[in-house]
Amino acid sequence: MQMPLEGRLDRFDYAIIGGGLSGLQLLLAMIGDPFFDEKKIAIIEADSDPPDKTWCFWEKGTGKWEHVMDHQWSKALFRGLNFEKVYSLSPYTYKKVSLSGLRKHVEMEVEGRNHVTWFMDRILSVVPGSTTTLVGQNLRYEALHVFDSRIEEDLDNLEGARMIWQHFLGWEIKTEAPLFDPDVFTMMDFSQVWNNQTSFTYVLPFSQREALVEYTFFTPHLVDEAVYTNMLRKYLKNTYGTTPFIIERVERGAIPMTDFTFGRSDHEGLTKIGTAGGWVKPSTGYSFKNTEKRVAELIQMIKNEHSPLHINTKPRYAFFDSLFLRVLTRDNDLGPLLFSEMYLKNSIQEIFLFLDEESSVITDLKIIASLPKVPFLKALLRHLREG
Ligand SMILES: Cc1cc2nc3c(=O)[nH]c(=O)nc-3n(C[C@H](O)[C@H](O)[C@H](O)COP(=O)(O)OP(=O)(O)OC[C@H]3O[C@@H](n4cnc5c(N)ncnc54)[C@H](O)[C@@H]3O)c2cc1C
Repeated sequence: MQMPLEGRLDRFDYAIIGGGLSGLQLLLAMIGDPFFDEKKIAIIEADSDPPDKTWCFWEKGTGKWEHVMDHQWSKALFRGLNFEKVYSLSPYTYKKVSLSGLRKHVEMEVEGRNHVTWFMDRILSVVPGSTTTLVGQNLRYEALHVFDSRIEEDLDNLEGARMIWQHFLGWEIKTEAPLFDPDVFTMMDFSQVWNNQTSFTYVLPFSQREALVEYTFFTPHLVDEAVYTNMLRKYLKNTYGTTPFIIERVERGAIPMTDFTFGRSDHEGLTKIGTAGGWVKPSTGYSFKNTEKRVAELIQMIKNEHSPLHINTKPRYAFFDSLFLRVLTRDNDLGPLLFSEMYLKNSIQEIFLFLDEESSVITDLKIIASLPKVPFLKALLRHLREG
């Protein structure tokens, strides 16, 4: 890994702004492909010590991330309104990767590759031209193509789009007594709903005495810190009793769930990636596997010399996501019922296929038919009226 040289203008074939999920996955894909062996690549990250993040995803069998995975689960608990069920995920597994683990792995992969440079710098502006210039706090960079994961939009004011936040506070706890089954994670538990809003608890047990417990909302507005902490305490007491625990780590997040068309500032020399490129699934807030797919598509486009490098979502699923967001922005109290019906009437494998945008039309229709009709019909009418 090379260190920045003060004030120098560095020239690259490719520059990646941001060493988060999308930047790290893109860099890994580039250095794993001989096409890029002769290309000069820069990755520029502003934060030298970011708080750790947990990324989970489901996939069938063995995937690309086994060597950085910290834990996996073969079963999922869903606790809805008036029912609860433990689902066997086979042939899927639910897997966990952490930001720190992925970043360490990428740093090791980059070591000794002289064509890749990792810069600690904050990009302040981007100047388009025959090559794209990046103005950083420490350095200026020039690249033939830039991949940019900075979010530049005002997410509280996205014109013409539906938008809710997936926001949460999680505690990684260690309990005195064994409480958890490390093979079963809790996908959604609606037993403690806050103020009739779409809010639930998500639990990732790592051992019988260790788990990440997150209180999560899918709502148009954020809440005060005390709301999450009260709900976490209440959930832990009501679900597991009064066993003492210590909080070893705190994880916070606010993920935009929106049908806004990101990537509008893409141009010949720059492609938005990650959340800023619209890679987060609007109806779930998940993006780990989507990122893997989008990165593979980008690499193929680069090799085929397509320009500009922009990927569109499949229209059918974009429409479903939009309807879902319309329902939750207007009738947020319906969330617990909506998810309960979906999990009650469909197999988890069908739901995963649908959310992965790989389901057949028949599965799509079955899942849609399982959801409460009136709010979706109203959302459909609004969609037809407002576009
Ligand atoms: C706490 C949390 C947990 C999540 N859990 C999951 C999950 O379980 N599964 C899932 O699929 N998705 C999850 N998500 C959603 C999504 O996968 C993440 O938000 C993901 O990190 C998005 O990737 P990204 O590359 O767009 O952004 P990031 O990973 O945030 O990366 C952006 C990077 O750019 C850097 N940066 C910003 N500005 C500049 C600048 N001016 N110059 C240089 N660098 C800059 C930032 O420091 C950051 O490292 C989670 C999100 C959060 C916040």
